Amino acid sequence: MITERFDLLVIGGGSGGVRASRMAAQAGARVALIEGAAMGGTCVNLGCIPKKLYSYAAHYAEAFEEAHGFGWTISERPKLDWDLLKANRSKEITRLNAVYINLLNNAGVKIITGWAKLLDGHTVQVDGVNYHAKKLLVATGGTPMVPSIKGAEHAITSNEMFDLTLFPKRLLVVGGGYIASEFASIFNGLGAQVTQLYRGEQILRGFDDDVRHFLATEIRKTGVDLRLNADVIAIAHSDAGLNISLNDGQTLQTDTVLYATGRRPNVQGLGLKQAGVDQSDDGAIKVNEQYQTSNPSIYALGDVTARIQLTPVALSEAMVLVDHLFGKNQTQMDYQFIPTAVFTHPNVATVGYSEAEARKKFPKIHVYRSEFKALKHTLSGSTERSIMKLIVDDATDRVVGLHMVGADAGEVVQGFAVAMKAGATKAVFDSTLGIHPTVAEEFVTMRVAVDE
Ligand code: FAD
Ligand code: NDP
Repeated sequence: MITERFDLLVIGGGSGGVRASRMAAQAGARVALIEGAAMGGTCVNLGCIPKKLYSYAAHYAEAFEEAHGFGWTISERPKLDWDLLKANRSKEITRLNAVYINLLNNAGVKIITGWAKLLDGHTVQVDGVNYHAKKLLVATGGTPMVPSIKGAEHAITSNEMFDLTLFPKRLLVVGGGYIASEFASIFNGLGAQVTQLYRGEQILRGFDDDVRHFLATEIRKTGVDLRLNADVIAIAHSDAGLNISLNDGQTLQTDTVLYATGRRPNVQGLGLKQAGVDQSDDGAIKVNEQYQTSNPSIYALGDVTARIQLTPVALSEAMVLVDHLFGKNQTQMDYQFIPTAVFTHPNVATVGYSEAEARKKFPKIHVYRSEFKALKHTLSGSTERSIMKLIVDDATDRVVGLHMVGADAGEVVQGFAVAMKAGATKAVFDSTLGIHPTVAEEFVTMRVAVDE
C-alpha cells in the first residue's frame, strides 16, 4: 500500500542526501529523506568530523613537547584520558545529529527512519511501508572493505576505531591511503606505538611523488614505524595480543589491527537490480553527467557512485542535481582542481596535477620546490620540515599543481585553491605579496624553477 507521495525521495542522510533534501525542499519540492542510522552519514558520525577532533587531540602531544623551547615548564607529564576524549566527541556528534535534523525539519523535509529498498523507479519500501515519488535519489555512501585474509575477523575498521573500549598500546594499521595514513598519525600522536604496513612502494598513491616521499620521512620522524612493500598474511589471537604473520616471513605482535584498505559502495539489499539500476563491477551505481542512473527516474551521487569520495564533492553534486531537477539547471559540477587534504602529522594538502600527471598532460612544465624548517621550529626543538611545490604550465604560465606537506596545510591550500580555479598564473603568484612571517608566504616567493 502506498502511503505518501513526494516529488523527491532521498535514500541516505549523509553529506549528499541531506544537502539534496534541504535544497530541493527550499526550491519548493515535496521531499522525504530516509535514513537507517544516525543523521549526517559517514562524515559526521564516523569520518571527517570525529577524525579531525581526534587529530586535534593528537596535535597536543607535539604542543606539550614543543612548549619547552618557548620557556614553558609542564610540571607533570601530560596524559591522555581516552574515555573523556570519546565522551566529548560523542557529545559533539550528538549535537550535530540534532542540528542536521533541525535543518531538515525547518526546510520542510519529512524524515523517515529505517532502511530503504527500491521496488521500482518510483516506489521505495521502508519497514513494509511503501512511499512514492516522481524522482528517487540514492545517496547511500560506502562502507569499509577488509580483504579476506586468514584471521580477518580479528581486524577492525575505521568505524570501530573511534569508540575502542581500551586505548591500544600497540596498533597495526594496514593500508597506505587517506584513512590508514591519518589514523596512523593520530593514534601515534595520542600515544599508541604504531606500525603502518603498505603493500606498495610508497604511501598515498596518486599524490605527487615528492609529497609522498617527504611525508613518509616526516611521519617516521614522529615515531610511526612505516613499512613499505609489506602486507599481512594472517592474524592469530593469543593471550599476549594479536600475532601477525607478514609477507616477508617476519612476525609482529600488536593489540589492535586496523584495516584501512578502501571502501565499497553501500548497495546491499537496496533492490537496485529490481529497479533496473546498472552497477559497475565493484557495485558502484553508474550515472551520467546529470547523476541519472540507467532507470531515468532514479539518481545517485556521492560515495555510492565511487568516484571522488570527499564530502565537498557529495555536497556539490547534490546542489548541481537539485538545480537540474528543481531549479534553473545552470550549475555544473567541475571535477577539475578539487583541493584535498590528508590530516596526517604533518598535514598534506594538494590541488591540481602532480608533477608526474602534469608531465604527461602538458608539453612543458616548470617545477618550483621549497623545503624548509618553519620558523616555529627554530625554538620548538622539533625537527619537522615542510615542503611546498608549484607546477606551472609553460604555455599559459598557469599554476596547474600546488602541493604542501606541513602544519595546517589544509588551511593554507584552501585559499590557494580559489586562485587556481580562477586560473592564476605564476606571474600572479609572483605579484602577490606574502604575509610575513608565515609558512604560506613561501607559495608566493618561489622564484627559481628546479628544472632550470
Ligand atoms: P554518506 O555520508 O556515507 O551517507 C550515506 C548514508 O546513507 C549513511 O548515513 C547510511 O546510513 C545511509 N544509508 C545507507 N543505506 C541506506 C538504506 N538502504 N536506507 C537508508 N539509509 C541508508 N571526506 C572529506 O572530504 N574530508 C575528510 O576529512 C574525510 N575524512 C573521512 C574519514 C573517514 C574515516 C572516512 C570513512 C571518510 C572520510 N571522508 C572525508 C569521506 C566522506 O565521509 C564521504 O565522502 C562522504 O561522507 C560521502 O557522503 P555520501 O552522502 O555519499 O555518503
Ligand atoms: P584509499 O583508497 O585512499 O586507500 C586504500 C589503501 O588500501 C591503499 O593504500 C591501497 O593500496 C590499500 N589496499 C587496497 N586493497 C588492499 C589489500 N587487499 N591489501 C592491502 N592493502 C590494500 O581508501 P581509504 O579506505 O583510506 O579511504 C577511502 C576514501 O575516503 C578515500 O579515498 C578518500 O576519498 C576518503 N577519505 C578522505 C579523507 C580526507 O579527505 N582527508 C580522509 C579519509 C578518507 P594501493 O594504493 O596499492 O591500491
